[in-house]
This record gives sequence, structure tokens and C-alpha cells, in this order.
Amino acid sequence: MKKHNYSAGPCILPQEVFEKSAQAVLNFNNSGLSLLEISHRSKDFVAVMDEARALALELLGLEGKGYQALFLHGGASLEFLMVPYNLMKENGKAAYLDSGTWASAAIKEAKFFGTTEIVGTSKEENYNHIPQNYSIPADADYFHCTSNNTIFGTQMKSFPETNVPVVCDMSSDIFSRQLDFSKFDIIYAGAQKNMGPAGTTLVIIKESILGQNGRTIPSMLDYSKHIKGESMYNTPAVFPVYASLLTLQWLKKNGGIAAVEKVNNAKAALLYAEIDRNPLFKGTANVADRSTMNACFLLENEAHAPIFDALWKEAGIVGLPGHRSVGGYRASMYNALPLESVQVLVNVMQVLENTI
Ligand SMILES: *Cc1c(COP(=O)(O)O)cnc(C)c1O
Repeated sequence: MKKHNYSAGPCILPQEVFEKSAQAVLNFNNSGLSLLEISHRSKDFVAVMDEARALALELLGLEGKGYQALFLHGGASLEFLMVPYNLMKENGKAAYLDSGTWASAAIKEAKFFGTTEIVGTSKEENYNHIPQNYSIPADADYFHCTSNNTIFGTQMKSFPETNVPVVCDMSSDIFSRQLDFSKFDIIYAGAQKNMGPAGTTLVIIKESILGQNGRTIPSMLDYSKHIKGESMYNTPAVFPVYASLLTLQWLKKNGGIAAVEKVNNAKAALLYAEIDRNPLFKGTANVADRSTMNACFLLENEAHAPIFDALWKEAGIVGLPGHRSVGGYRASMYNALPLESVQVLVNVMQVLENTI
């Protein structure tokens, strides 16, 4: 039986992505060769990289707007330092919104390069909301935020208007909802939350912001070098890039971000309605900031945990336990998770209510 996979990342991907990428490992494009044994400079793989880069921009509505898409190594975590290396001036300053564990990990790395000004934080309340009413200093080299806080289940519903470049870690909600992506100067996302297997990071860059901070940047950390190398400055992660391309093709075929956003909203509405209605459960995140991707909730009475855990496991659900810093449960509902899987979870929550 296929499981209902609520894992936070690596996570569920469309079934056809698993099938087609498995096929490519055996026989890529009917070449008689595996995707894993061909040169990344071969015509067939260059076509994969070119299409993946172009399709990422197309789906985000950024084609022809001065942006480049790169598939880099090192996860979102390497972007935590590539961003300041490429954008922060010597003795410069950057503004950061501290909305969760990943945001604070990004701040930690930026401190190696200059001053970080934390313009807003929700740390004192265990990051249960998105900080509001903050202002961004006009002399900051850039502003950095995290659109979706994977661990705490909060999501930015709006983004500040500012004249400084805006950098956003969209690892856990990229391609899940429509935004005016042209308001961002750099967007980055580790593949393994909504796009593909771990091992590649999508980085979207407005080219005009590069080359202005006066630093000498080591080649592998220099966005300009990767752009010049057409995302093949060194050997790219061929399998994760190929599987990411398959996911992007799946998304386009199914109506793009607009269509998947409707399904994501329906899934989130279904689950949050049950969390709010069912007297045995409570949500942890501020209602206005609730994430459509990661829903965090607790049992009102911890003593019910063994029965609830047995029920959802029996129903074929996996990956539901919450992150240790929040406890309870976290239902990650990425693009590939079908509405039916959410209905199965809601049913289990109702069975618990009727059993107790
Ligand atoms: C998972 C995650 C990261 C870390 O990603 P890696 O690719 O493992 O470095 C960073 N930011 C957010 C928002 C995440 O969800």
C-alpha cells in the first residue's frame, strides 16, 4: 500500500517523478546509458539543465525579467553564506527577519561577513508567529527573510515594500503559491521540500544586483561564476536536477502554481478546520500566520498520544511527529501530497475523538 507521506523533507514527490527518474537511471532517453554514467556536458544532459533553468523561471513568471536560475550544491545552508559573500559590502550591514530556526541559522553565517541587524524576531514566543511592524534600514545591503518556517508552521502572507534588495529562503514553499516573484532579488530553495531529491539548491538571482559589493569571492561561492558557467561551473548534481525537472514538468502540465495553490489551500483548510473543531487537538501557530505547507498541532492531553499514534500508523500515515523544538505533530502538505491523504488524517482525528 502506498503510504500517506507527511515527512517535512526529504518528502513526497509526484509518483510519476519517481517512475520516470528510476527509468532514466536504467536507460536515459533511450540512449542505452544510465543518466548516472553520462557526461554532464553531453547534449542530452545540457538540454536537461537548460530546460530546468528555463522552466523554473517560467513557472515563477520571471522569464525575460533579468533573472537567472541556477542549480547549485550545498543545500539551502550554503546559501546562508553565499548571500552575504555576494551582496554584503566589506564592513557592511544586512537586515534579517528572525522568524525561526532556519532564519537564525542564516543570521549566524552572515555574521562572518559583517553586521546583521535583526529587524524583528519571534524567538521569545518559540517562533509561533511572523514578526510584524518592523522596518528595514535604508542603508542595509539587503533584507533577508524566510517565507515559510518549516519547523514552526508559520508562513509570511505579505512581504515588506523596501528599496533594499530582498533575499528570501523559500525552501519549503517555493512553487506552492502565487506571489509577485519579481519583488525578490534572490530566492533560494533546497530541492528536497517541494521540488526534488536532496542534493541541489535552486537559486534565482536578479543579475543586476551582483558584482557590487567589492569583495573578491572564491569561485565556487561566486554567483557570477555559476551564471557564466550556465550552472555547470563544476559537475552539477545530475540526478537531483533531472528529478527536479520532472517535478517542474508535472507542475506545468497540471496548471502551474495557480492550480496547485488551489489544492494546497483546500488541503490546509481541511486540516486546520479539524484541528480547530476537534476538542482533542490545538494548533501551535498564530492563526493568521499558519502555513499551508506545514501544519503543527498538539494533543490537548498527552495521555492520548499512544492511541492516536497507533491509529495514524495503522491508516498508512508516516512522517507525522513534530520537530523536537515544537513537539506534538507536524503535517507537511507539500505540492505532491494529494487531498485524499489529508482526508485520511482528518478521519483518524475523528476516530480518536469517537474512541476516547
Ligand atoms: C530545510 C530547510 C533549510 C535547510 O536546507 P538544506 O538544504 O538542508 O541546507 C533551510 N531553510 C528552510 C526554510 C528549510 O526548510
